[in-house]
Amino acid sequence: MSDFALRLSGVTKRFGSHTAVDHLDLEVPRGSIYGLLGPNGSGKTTSIRMIMGILLPDEGRVELFGSDPDETRRRRVGYLPEERGLYRKMKVLDLLAFMGEIRGVAPTEGRRRAGDWLDRLGLQDWIDRKVEDLSKGMQQKVQFVATVLHQPELLILDEPFSGLDPINQDVLEEIVREFHRKGTTILFSTHLMDQAERLCERVCLISRARKVLDGDLKGLKRAESRGVLAVGFEGSEGWLEGPEVMAREAVGGDYHLVLADGADPQAILRRAIAAEVTIRRFELVEPRLHEIFVHHAGEAAAGDGGMPRALDGTGGVG
Ligand code: ADP
Ligand code: MG
Repeated sequence: MSDFALRLSGVTKRFGSHTAVDHLDLEVPRGSIYGLLGPNGSGKTTSIRMIMGILLPDEGRVELFGSDPDETRRRRVGYLPEERGLYRKMKVLDLLAFMGEIRGVAPTEGRRRAGDWLDRLGLQDWIDRKVEDLSKGMQQKVQFVATVLHQPELLILDEPFSGLDPINQDVLEEIVREFHRKGTTILFSTHLMDQAERLCERVCLISRARKVLDGDLKGLKRAESRGVLAVGFEGSEGWLEGPEVMAREAVGGDYHLVLADGADPQAILRRAIAAEVTIRRFELVEPRLHEIFVHHAGEAAAGDGGMPRALDGTGGVG
């Protein structure tokens, strides 16, 4: 039995002259919770569509549970597409029973499971209403139920949190954690780095169709532990700029400076002293995912799809 629920090797997709996914290698270990992260337009959805067989790769190979994907193996996957869409005229419970049946769940059992999920998600009063009567957020929860009803071994969720209010994001996050605890393998895409940071064991950061880096999140943070300098001060800001500093971000009244490779924090400190500012804080800190991304892909790439800042609660669109 393969240790990987999913493996991509050299997977490439071109749309005309535009390369949407460029030689992507990805290994998702069984039982892991894995984040595919990158700004809008970086190629996450295209990669997932190739995994699901909706698009064919121009090059490379996708392996599902250790072999070429086929109908039987794809049935072991629960897939939440980015474009949400349910039969609008059907009643919620009927629809879920129907979706379950397509995936091999007997209708009585499907209704039972769907009923339990709808209770849990606060939709118990909506089971006999038509899908079109539900709000967007409610429809998204129903679609999530449809994704998990057949108890898949592997969940592939494309931007599962987008479009949900913060409370429902938390609810979904907790459910995803629960699936993880029960042994389900989870791959989800997001441009929301803070969410990924809370949830993932492993991450793959992509930018402009290419993998920037991947691996175990704790290991990546350790490897970058000399990369981010937190500074707090009173006074002018000009000294923050210099060849050592790749990017800076306001974080709770201080700044986080993403350092260039081999940069010497002492050089920055000397500039601060020359500028006669009062230093409150000056220390290397554990980088956040966003800072790791900036360090490897550059600030311009991070800004592609409006990804950064919004991610870390320092402003911007949420
Ligand atoms: P993400 O999910 O990371 O936001 P996508 O995979 O949706 O990114 O898109 C990656 C790139 O491929 C984008 O530049 C997008 O415009 C382009 N793209 C995606 N699907 C198509 C398509 N069907 N035809 C042409 N270009 C596409
Ligand atoms: Mg997408």
